[in-house]
Amino acid sequence: MGNFDKIVNLCKSRGIIFPGSDIYDGLANTWDYGPVGVELKNNIKRAWWKTFVQKSENSFGIDADIFMNSKVWDASGHTASFSDPKMDCKSCKTRHRADNLIEADSKGSVNPDTMTNEQMEAYIKEHHVCCPKCGKCDWTPIRNFNLMFSTSRGVTDEGQNLIYLRPETAQGEFVNFLNVQRSMRAKVPFGIAQIGKAFRNEVTPGNFTFRTIEFEQMEHQWFCRADESMKYYNEFKQKAYDFLLSLGFNPEHLRFHDHDKLAHYAKAACDIQYLYPIGWEELNGIHHRGDWDLSRHQEFSGKSMLYLDPYTNEKYIPNVVEYSIGADRLTLAVLCEAYDEEKLSDGETRVVMHFHPSIAPYKVAVLPLQKNLSDKAREVYKILSNYFMVSYDEAGSIGKRYRRQDEIGTPMCVTIDFDTLNDNTVTIRDRDTMEQIRLTINELVDYIIKKVAY
Ligand code: ATP
Repeated sequence: MGNFDKIVNLCKSRGIIFPGSDIYDGLANTWDYGPVGVELKNNIKRAWWKTFVQKSENSFGIDADIFMNSKVWDASGHTASFSDPKMDCKSCKTRHRADNLIEADSKGSVNPDTMTNEQMEAYIKEHHVCCPKCGKCDWTPIRNFNLMFSTSRGVTDEGQNLIYLRPETAQGEFVNFLNVQRSMRAKVPFGIAQIGKAFRNEVTPGNFTFRTIEFEQMEHQWFCRADESMKYYNEFKQKAYDFLLSLGFNPEHLRFHDHDKLAHYAKAACDIQYLYPIGWEELNGIHHRGDWDLSRHQEFSGKSMLYLDPYTNEKYIPNVVEYSIGADRLTLAVLCEAYDEEKLSDGETRVVMHFHPSIAPYKVAVLPLQKNLSDKAREVYKILSNYFMVSYDEAGSIGKRYRRQDEIGTPMCVTIDFDTLNDNTVTIRDRDTMEQIRLTINELVDYIIKKVAY
């Protein structure tokens, strides 16, 4: 946990992530991205979009509304059964997830997903699982709480209708299946992707942004024939894994975790887990969902979801392979993966975030060696900021300024010195190697573009 606390502190002090509603002592499990963090998260989202939409010939992006007709959630099963098994500690009144308590107690050797509420209660009693907060073992029975946030629509009380803040983005892709297919003249197999907010009324044990009540999902649904669905399921497992490697993840920090317990309609499901400082945890999921989602929407909406295959004239409801990853959970993994404390030859330690240059919040910093070089430095800033996010800093010793940029993972620092005034050359320092080379100002843009390409 050592590094986790340091990362949380760095995030706050360097404008990456702040506690939500900070001046009011916060609101549990809400976080705000600061000026540096918003760049990082946007770059991660762009890299995902590039991989799964831009470079994927048969995939199409959408941006569906957060609010959907409540029947959507009846069809998806969320109104009936999207809940966590929760129990309250009678002594300190905190609420906990029974499955999480069992997982922690058994150190992962027992899988609570395969247990009924009665079996979980029996386990907790038998193993004297106590409250992690106060240490007492005095629990209420398990109750299932629906995780969806609801609100009401309508100006007057009489006109109120219950509506939900979506708990996942996937339903936007399912209900738009035929809209996208027809408008884009798409042929099965094809994909629909979107990035957007989702909301879940979860009890969480902290752990920074790992599990929050408001978060962003990046989801991709691949619609395909049933007889090809397992092939695509395996392809998506690989694609999801390769995407993480492309962001610079160490393969030793990633592993597949196949699900033992499958939903009744599912043929296969797995997570990719990341070795967070809190242990191995789910980073994303790949789910083979059969034709469950489209069939349910056909049943509940009364509208046909049949696809007419133009080659075979067959009519069928396609199968779906879903790939789903939390943008915030991925951003947290990227932060953990990038964090490094490096011992230098002079005995000092520098904190450096080794972000892949393509997702680094700022690509380059412009640093005049002295304040009286700021006119020239601002000229350089103006040129570079046409192309990249550029940090400009003229306060403090050059060494301290390099350290600040290392801490937010800026891959390159451009230093303006007195020679710049004579020959238009600058020094460019590499974050990882700390090596410096000299380039002319005219060469800078092309040089940086190559370094930060994704
Ligand atoms: P978990 O088992 O961690 O609750 P899940 O299996 O319910 O996750 P999915 O419904 O498959 O998760 O959601 C897909 C992805 O969305 C997850 O892999 C995760 O990256 C992200 N995600 C889900 N819930 C949250 C949350 N409360 N906070 C942040 N990210 C989340």
